[in-house]
Amino acid sequence: MYRWVQRNNKTLPVEIHKVPIPVRSSARRKTDQGRPWPVIYLSSWFKVAFQEPYGGFFFLAGQRLTELDEVKKTLSRFWSRYRGVEPNFVFPERPDLTIPFYVHGDEGRGYCKRHTFTTRLLYSLIPRERYAAEGASTQGLMAAFVADANELYHHGVEVTFGGICQRFYLQCLGTKGDWPFLRSAWKLWAGFSSKRLCHKCDFEDWHDFTTTGPLRTNPGANSRSVGDPFHRGPLAALRGLAPSGSTEKIKIDLAHTWSIAGCGKDYLASGLVFIAVHCRHFGAGAWELLLDRAFEDFSRWCVSNKKVSSIKEFSKEELKITSLQQYPRGLGKGSDAALVSKWIATVLEGMDENQVPEEYQNIFKVLKWGHASVSQFFKIIYCGKIWLTAHEGEQAECYGALARLSWEAGLALWYIRPKCHMLAHVVLSG
Ligand SMILES: [Zn+2]
Repeated sequence: MYRWVQRNNKTLPVEIHKVPIPVRSSARRKTDQGRPWPVIYLSSWFKVAFQEPYGGFFFLAGQRLTELDEVKKTLSRFWSRYRGVEPNFVFPERPDLTIPFYVHGDEGRGYCKRHTFTTRLLYSLIPRERYAAEGASTQGLMAAFVADANELYHHGVEVTFGGICQRFYLQCLGTKGDWPFLRSAWKLWAGFSSKRLCHKCDFEDWHDFTTTGPLRTNPGANSRSVGDPFHRGPLAALRGLAPSGSTEKIKIDLAHTWSIAGCGKDYLASGLVFIAVHCRHFGAGAWELLLDRAFEDFSRWCVSNKKVSSIKEFSKEELKITSLQQYPRGLGKGSDAALVSKWIATVLEGMDENQVPEEYQNIFKVLKWGHASVSQFFKIIYCGKIWLTAHEGEQAECYGALARLSWEAGLALWYIRPKCHMLAHVVLSG
């Protein structure tokens, strides 16, 4: 493949630098050694993006440097709107010439078959087995990244295309990624395995998503001054990011919270078991058989809607349970979450409330109400709108209500785990 890429002239002349960082020399010996590690600086990508024939297309919202007036208007409009998203943000002095960027600590491969490189710019790759002790590899890589990014923020970079020469500045909006990345990159002691779960708040009843819960009654939870969520000792490299490396820069990634090993898949797995096994929507019989029947229905739905799922069966293994006393978890890959969700919406629509056993009527009603809210939420997100109303925030509340009602009915469904809390931050308090 490498030869094919070279032969067909599919390469970009982007400069690759090497940064000395500690890496694990071998998994067996567990010793760390300094090694020059390859990185592609943001500044290197930026320079390549302005060469012939690109003209800055990737960085200038699909425009070229030759349309400089339009570019300036687009950037100014972006920053004026961003004020509404994050009022406490340190806004750029030259909004018309400042390009925003995000740091994503994840490979993000393959969603909808778009290659990672079409939606983001690679900085570096490091296999998990090469990580040095105490996050030293990540810190080394991030320190070099921050130095380059700060240079772009303070002094900018001059580019030329089509006879126009212009200096642009770049500013970071935030960092996202999976939870282990955020913890390692920001040196957070708060997290899913700690006594304090969340770096944004320190509410003891983090699992209360009701209207009287702390997340709802304290809408300023994000900016609330709570104890430091960072480890003691040398600061994480990202905290030196200009103009501010504050906790506000640590964002929650919805994909990792909901679909990729997230609580959304647990929610769907429980919904599936509830509908197929406890409501017997696909007939009576042993629970394994009922899940098979549900899968047949799902497969038919996929075919008639021209969808392809990676899920091969609704088996115990797929739901990660051996009995109904265990909470169903996960379901397929990240991209399957949207599919299963749509299928469940169709199933719920076709269900007659009177067929649901008396003792599960309440759960059914909440699931139906909550599922409409979940669908609406993602529809809005995917349509590219940012603003969420309290109505769309109902899904976290729905998850909590389903967990409580099923517990009362003696069903092991809708397990509440830390990611539910992070979801609540996204939908309830921004
Ligand atoms: Zn929190």
